[in-house]
Amino acid sequence: MEQNYDVVIIGTGVAGLYGALHLDKRLKVLIICKRDITLSNSSLAQGGVAAVTRPDYDDVRYHIEDTLIAGGHQNDLAAVTKLCEEGPKEVRHLMELGVDFDTDAEGKTHLTLEGGHSKPRILHHKDCTGREIVNKLILNVKKQENITIWEHSIVVGLEKRGDGFAIDALYDDEHHDNEHCFLAARYVMLCTGGIGRVYRYTTNSAIATGDGIALAYQMGARIKNLSFVQFHPTAFAGNVRERFLISESVRGEGAKLLNCHGQQFMTRYDPRGELAPRDVVSKGIMAEQKRVGSDKFYLDISYKDPKFIKERFPMIYAALLVEGYDLTKDPIPVYPCQHYLMGGIDVDLNSATTVDGLYACGECSHTGVHGANRLASNSLLEALVFSHAAANHINARSLTEPASYPDPAFPADRGRNRIPKGIRTEIRAIMQEADFVVPDPEKAAAGLARILEIRRMLLDGGFMMSHDYFEALSLATIACLILQDVSEKGDAAPGAR
Ligand SMILES: Cc1cc2nc3c(=O)[nH]c(=O)nc-3n(C[C@H](O)[C@H](O)[C@H](O)COP(=O)(O)OP(=O)(O)OC[C@H]3O[C@@H](n4cnc5c(N)ncnc54)[C@H](O)[C@@H]3O)c2cc1C
Repeated sequence: MEQNYDVVIIGTGVAGLYGALHLDKRLKVLIICKRDITLSNSSLAQGGVAAVTRPDYDDVRYHIEDTLIAGGHQNDLAAVTKLCEEGPKEVRHLMELGVDFDTDAEGKTHLTLEGGHSKPRILHHKDCTGREIVNKLILNVKKQENITIWEHSIVVGLEKRGDGFAIDALYDDEHHDNEHCFLAARYVMLCTGGIGRVYRYTTNSAIATGDGIALAYQMGARIKNLSFVQFHPTAFAGNVRERFLISESVRGEGAKLLNCHGQQFMTRYDPRGELAPRDVVSKGIMAEQKRVGSDKFYLDISYKDPKFIKERFPMIYAALLVEGYDLTKDPIPVYPCQHYLMGGIDVDLNSATTVDGLYACGECSHTGVHGANRLASNSLLEALVFSHAAANHINARSLTEPASYPDPAFPADRGRNRIPKGIRTEIRAIMQEADFVVPDPEKAAAGLARILEIRRMLLDGGFMMSHDYFEALSLATIACLILQDVSEKGDAAPGAR
């Protein structure tokens, strides 16, 4: 098995796949993902990608302005400008790669509206845009001879050694059962996605345990704004951990948000009503819950033409039918839940972290584009623009920097113990209590003390390195970082909450 690579990319979401496609074809590249190649938050994206593609009625300046307003003006202006100016080019490139965005009756790309956008500018493939993009990117990546893909292989160790990196991955295929595999790389791109699984309820897929952020933190990379967590207002209120999202675009197409009495209420809290940015709508729901004394909320689009609903939202319609609800007839029970992380591994405009040679792209990174609250459909765009930037930077560096590979060996496992049951459940319970939509400073302080104990126990307990152990340690690290940030910022994150 090959041991030395020019670039190792950890993650096969939009950031990892799109970044890989832009690396120089002379570079030897390995992409690793811990489950199936398609299991990622990227594949779950419904609404679409925001970009100014019709200069006849939209303008990059409006996209910048909308992004800054949603982010509570806590965004990095240079990063937002790069996102909005370069976004349209990346979206056109996606089309060249075969991504099929919906078109209107005139054959023009159909653009939809989502909360916080002043113009309809969201390109989409029905209501399963992420899956369409990921599938087309995979097809293209698989054609590249310089790229190797490992599925079901979790990276559990990453160290800077000399000019390069040593990587410890548990490799799994028909001949190997989670065997340690040591790799050397000149450059590493962390594209490991979000942290949703640190909360009890999330829209995120099972891979979202914050591994990349925990690995970068361990290496001393700067981590920023981890308390900037987005809670989506309209996840389906089922009793399962992974909550199915009812996309923003359902409100964009006119769905009404109702309280337990069947009354619209959002304009009580914001003149933009249902189309206010997500944090505002989530907070509106929590305020309305206090006012009416009930946590029952509904999304209702049943007044629209059933044919339109079924054609526009086929995936959501089908998923809700399985739960016993008909989107064309019934108000759908919804409630906020964890959805997205705006903070992450701090990077510059080239997606370079504070550790030389280490790059971070997509949801695990903090580019500063989202400020304190992400504007809908800006995160796929961020993954495209900033993974391309990372690839460009690596390409340029690789031409002048010598190809040296460190010894990648890691010490043998420190122990044989298996982690006690219930660790993840306890972390999630603490986070749900301490940091849901509006953080509770007292519970956050008490929760932080307990999570620090859990993390110490995981580090010192002589545990065998396994998929389970590593993810539990990542969750404990992320929970600590979030609660520390909550304690420092308190409520001083206006817009985020
Ligand atoms: C339900 C839902 C709907 C959304 N809708 C939209 C939308 O309409 N528009 C929009 O712009 N955004 C949307 N988002 C957000 C957006 O999808 C994500 O922010 C974005 O896709 C993240 O992409 P990524 O490449 O950074 O990470 P992901 O797509 O999450 O990929 C992470 C990858 O990292 C791998 N990985 C993680 N840890 C390890 C490890 N230790 N070892 C090996 N591999 C590892 C995983 O296996 C996976 O391949 C949505 C998110 C959700 C959850």
